[in-house]
Amino acid sequence: MMDQINIAMLETVVNHISSSLIAVNSSERITHLYVHKHNARNLQYLVGRNWFDLLKRVITPENYTALYDAYYECVTSQQPVYISKLCHIDIRGLTEYYSCSFSFLPQYSTVIVFMKNITESLLIEEEFTCMSEQYESLNRELCIAMSNLEFHMMDIEQAHKKIAALYRITSIVQKTVNEQEVLNEILDGITRELGFTHVSIMLFDEKRKELKVTAQRGLADASRRIPLGRGITGYAALHRELVYVEDVSKDSRYITGSSDCISEVAIPLVVDDRLFGVLNVETTDGRILQSYDLDLLRSLASQIAMTIAHASHVSKVEIQAITDGLTGLYNYRYFRTILTQELKRAMRYRRSLSLIMIDIDYFKHYNDTNGHLAGDAVLSTVAGLIKQSCRDVDIVVRYGGEEFAILLPETSEAEAYLLAERIRREIAEYSFPNGMAQPNGQVSVSVGIASYPEDAYFDIELIECADIALYTAKHAGRNCVKLFGEKSDKTDST
Ligand code: GH3
Ligand code: MG
Ligand code: MG
Repeated sequence: MMDQINIAMLETVVNHISSSLIAVNSSERITHLYVHKHNARNLQYLVGRNWFDLLKRVITPENYTALYDAYYECVTSQQPVYISKLCHIDIRGLTEYYSCSFSFLPQYSTVIVFMKNITESLLIEEEFTCMSEQYESLNRELCIAMSNLEFHMMDIEQAHKKIAALYRITSIVQKTVNEQEVLNEILDGITRELGFTHVSIMLFDEKRKELKVTAQRGLADASRRIPLGRGITGYAALHRELVYVEDVSKDSRYITGSSDCISEVAIPLVVDDRLFGVLNVETTDGRILQSYDLDLLRSLASQIAMTIAHASHVSKVEIQAITDGLTGLYNYRYFRTILTQELKRAMRYRRSLSLIMIDIDYFKHYNDTNGHLAGDAVLSTVAGLIKQSCRDVDIVVRYGGEEFAILLPETSEAEAYLLAERIRREIAEYSFPNGMAQPNGQVSVSVGIASYPEDAYFDIELIECADIALYTAKHAGRNCVKLFGEKSDKTDST
């Protein structure tokens, strides 16, 4: 009975001790016992009992063996022995951990066993390890998230920079009127702000069905023409869709241009279903274009397309404003502007400038005889004959009803005379309908010439002089050319 109570007490001790100090002599008997937080007197009945007998009853065989072995190792070696972790499942089914240290006291032939419950510290340690692991994995995740964020931030920053660039480019464009200037500004913007080095704007030639380089940066062949449908550019134009080829060497459509080209983007320039051309960007550094790069280029392309559409509309309106509807020649308004400019230029560069005035002879008669429409046809034909005899730099004008003017930059009076004579002859020789019904038997013109600096220094003066020369030609009997200052033969003769 007594033994049963002792065992119960011992179990209580073993299961609840946080630490205990036990002196076990060479006969394996407990000589002293101290249990932390327990009344030592209650446990005094354990003193004198065999420690291993008691242990055998309350702990597992493995733990028993471990303690037994440690005890005898300590006795034989007379050195401290340490068991770092002893696992014990208590009567409540809870797992407790102990550390045990054995020290031998030779003078008493006794082993001092210090047992310490380390469950709590182990659990804390475990929890700490688990928390550390969790922290580490969180930290890792955080690092990944941070670098992703940084990447996205860079992306956003890049996108922001590019949008700012787009804004800058488009604001320059809005201030520029001339089409070629606008295209150059855009290309400068693309190379400067977006860092693309090989960029071109190819305009679509409706008649030839081909694309022609109009503005470019870094292109090997600036006079390049690409038929619609050919190459990556031609494909984009024909299908009116953005084409991005990351590696041109793997795309059969690619037409070899610059040898170091790696990828290419071609974006059609379309407004209201009308194809104006293609914006082409080639990269040589293997840089892979992101979707925002493409979006940005797409925005620029639409800006370019609008600009070209606007410019072509403006130039159409401008052309209409300065040309004569019937003959297609420049009108009087344009003539006055260009005359002032050309005269200034001639003065600055000390060059001559000649003005030829042409008037159809007896034109009222032609109208009266053949009708106004036939008269119009003659005006048109005469305009064509004059135009085809002139150089590109000459400015051919319908001055008034049946009067024409030709402004000849860098042309002396003598040179102007040769041209005027040729024109007069060609018209006189041309077979106009019912020409022979004219008073002088043909449709003919009278021509007057005046030149800077010989005859006049000012624009009005030059016109007046040419007019006077023309009057002289009329007075001389028509169908002839007279220089200013030259007397009409008729006047001479009379
Ligand atoms: P001259 O040899 O002295 O130059 O005689 P002219 O009959 O040519 O000269 P005039 O100034 O008397 O007549 C000019 C005529 O040109 C009068 C007008 O009917 C005609 N005319 C002016 N503009 C047009 C036009 O746009 N179409 C047609 N069909 N006739 C025009
Ligand atoms: Mg006239
Ligand atoms: Mg006339």
